[in-house]
Amino acid sequence: MHSSKAIILSIATTDSGGGAGIQADIKAISATGGYACSVIAAITAQNTQRVTAVHLLPQDIIRAQLDAIFSDLPVAAVKVGMLGGADTINLVADALEAYRPRHLVVDPVMVSANGDILLAPEAVDSLKQRLLPLADVITPNLPEAASLTGLPVPASLSEIEPLIGALEALECRAVLLKGGFLQQEPRSPDWLLHNGEVRCFDTPRVITPNTHGTGCTLSSALASYLGQGLELELAVASAKHYIEKAIEAGTRLKIGQGRGPVEH
Ligand code: PLP
Repeated sequence: MHSSKAIILSIATTDSGGGAGIQADIKAISATGGYACSVIAAITAQNTQRVTAVHLLPQDIIRAQLDAIFSDLPVAAVKVGMLGGADTINLVADALEAYRPRHLVVDPVMVSANGDILLAPEAVDSLKQRLLPLADVITPNLPEAASLTGLPVPASLSEIEPLIGALEALECRAVLLKGGFLQQEPRSPDWLLHNGEVRCFDTPRVITPNTHGTGCTLSSALASYLGQGLELELAVASAKHYIEKAIEAGTRLKIGQGRGPVEH
């Protein structure tokens, strides 16, 4: 007898250190019960300390990967992560408009927590114009939300309100705003903006240096749960639970000299 799994596609970039990017996506999708496949948009030379090189793949190779997958695999959900530049954003948006996957999570990756630039700043407009309108949900962290809205990065919880208002004005179907960058807060809140309502998902903050790849992991787990049929709020709650457990488990790991990965 055959059994099947929800096929979850990550369109993103590799992390040679194994903690973030496509490597984190595949681990998170597998651990949450999906079948992971991937379109590699770019390659990074990277470890737990820094990104030392980025190579954007040729457009025809990215297009060929997309066509190979969509012409054969019944993709249940797509997660888009680091794409690196405007040409790739346009190409991926064209493909998503043509293939229309049932669920689309867009992680608007721009800068790593170590400060490495992961999207050319001039490509932010393409991201806003081409990819955000296609997404069921976008998952910005606070600096990414600030960049998308033109507002300053909030320094405390009291500064979140205007950012939430500006994100609602972006006309995305849903936004999961991640509050993890508010390091001094005792809790780690995320806010789901959906159907004119704001729901806060609040978990205790785990104090650890091992948070490399947390954004990739959360957005992949979310795509995985959506692809397996969970409705948005339950998929967000489940993905938040998954990343919380992965961060807790990661506190016991010592991998590399810098910000180590979470444990899947
Ligand atoms: N490298 C790649 C390929 C990524 O996609 C990302 C985030 O999406 C990062 C690095 C940055 O991860 P972090 O900020 O969690 O270290």
